[in-house]
Amino acid sequence: MGSMIRKVKGTRDILPPDSRLWVEVEATAHRVFGGFGYEEIRLPLLESTELFVRSVGEDTDIVSKEMYTFADRKGRSLTLRPEGTASVARAFVENGLGQRPQPLRLTYLGPMFRYEKMQRGRYRQFAQIGIEILGAAAPQADVEVLLVLHTFLAALGFDDLIIVLNNLGDPEDRPRFIDGLKAELSPHREKLCSDCQRRWDANPLRILDCKVPSCRELVAETTPVADVVSDEAKRHVEEVEAGLAALDIKVRRAPRLVRGLDYYLRTVFEVISPQLGEDTVICGGGRYDRLISDLGGSRIPGTGFAIGEDRLVEVLPESFRNRVLDRPVVAVLPLGAEAAATGLGVTRDLAARGITAPTEVTGRSLKAGLKWAGKIGARAAIIIGQTELEANAAIVRDLARSEQQTVSLDQVPVIIARLLQKKEHE
Ligand code: ATP
Ligand code: MG
Repeated sequence: MGSMIRKVKGTRDILPPDSRLWVEVEATAHRVFGGFGYEEIRLPLLESTELFVRSVGEDTDIVSKEMYTFADRKGRSLTLRPEGTASVARAFVENGLGQRPQPLRLTYLGPMFRYEKMQRGRYRQFAQIGIEILGAAAPQADVEVLLVLHTFLAALGFDDLIIVLNNLGDPEDRPRFIDGLKAELSPHREKLCSDCQRRWDANPLRILDCKVPSCRELVAETTPVADVVSDEAKRHVEEVEAGLAALDIKVRRAPRLVRGLDYYLRTVFEVISPQLGEDTVICGGGRYDRLISDLGGSRIPGTGFAIGEDRLVEVLPESFRNRVLDRPVVAVLPLGAEAAATGLGVTRDLAARGITAPTEVTGRSLKAGLKWAGKIGARAAIIIGQTELEANAAIVRDLARSEQQTVSLDQVPVIIARLLQKKEHE
């Protein structure tokens, strides 16, 4: 026998019943996003490395140290996608989606890959759920995106998440802001951490985002980016805030919030969970009006968000978890080979009514079958022995009460539905 092969560091196996939470989260996403007109776009996991260099930005953490990049057999440089927006933009240009009625509302979900130090809520393969609205420059599109986000989180039962928002201004505002920031920080430059020393020239905006406490203290004294942006950019984000207020969606200004990707401008936001804290955010998003033109398309504005599904699942409200994890199960126990097909038929009839009722298919005796039913947490067993088979009937046994009755096969779904309902009301 060979030695056991283990999963790659930073990847995870999501096993049942936890996988149910993922399925239900994704179904909820499709339902909520679909209601706002967002349709799924399915994108490759593999892209040309160049795509992320040109969109996310060469000097970002993602591109400079987190990508899974390799040469394929023909020597082309490929990268396992670290995020979704760049691929959406690439697909928009490549498929001429600008020809369709604008704006275009798209949603995507699936695995992303980043070579990161592992810790709670941080994996090397993780999943994101995102939306993008392309072809709408007005602040109303940002309001919509945040409304969709808020509606989705509410549908999952969250009531304690915090949305924080900032105004990054336009790319034209940035040199002015960075000059001011550097002027304010330069007397303390040697007190910045070694990462920030590197960021000073490569990506100074990210100094605002440093998690090192001493850097945070220094940064807290500097002029917020929103104070130095153009009047137009100011008005844009103020209108976003006004729109959100009109919808009764609470957002908090976070004057130092910047994002780890170069393409964002004006509106940027994050969702913070009190459980995971500010360094492990649930969602990041914002506006990216230059991304598509930077990738060779025309001037198509865009705005959207990406939720980290792993982190989201980790902090799901109890109400949601209970609803999804406590789904009732019934065991079908055909006794003997002749009853097996009848048993599977009962499973099929119950499944058609949304009741999960797996059949015992390993040939267990009644006693062993009941034990199995207990182990899988079944609330009832449907027993089909020789006598029942001949009478076209089954024994329905309430496993909690140890009561049973013989009913005709076509009555089984009704009886089971009633039995499960009774349980729910207890
Ligand atoms: P962080 O500051 O936590 O590194 P980020 O700014 O790099 O996040 P984004 O690129 O904005 O994250 O991705 C959007 C969301 O994807 C994040 O808010 C987070 O929930 C999730 N995410 C990002 N990286 C990881 C990871 N390595 N493991 C799990 N989830 C992640
Ligand atoms: Mg990151």
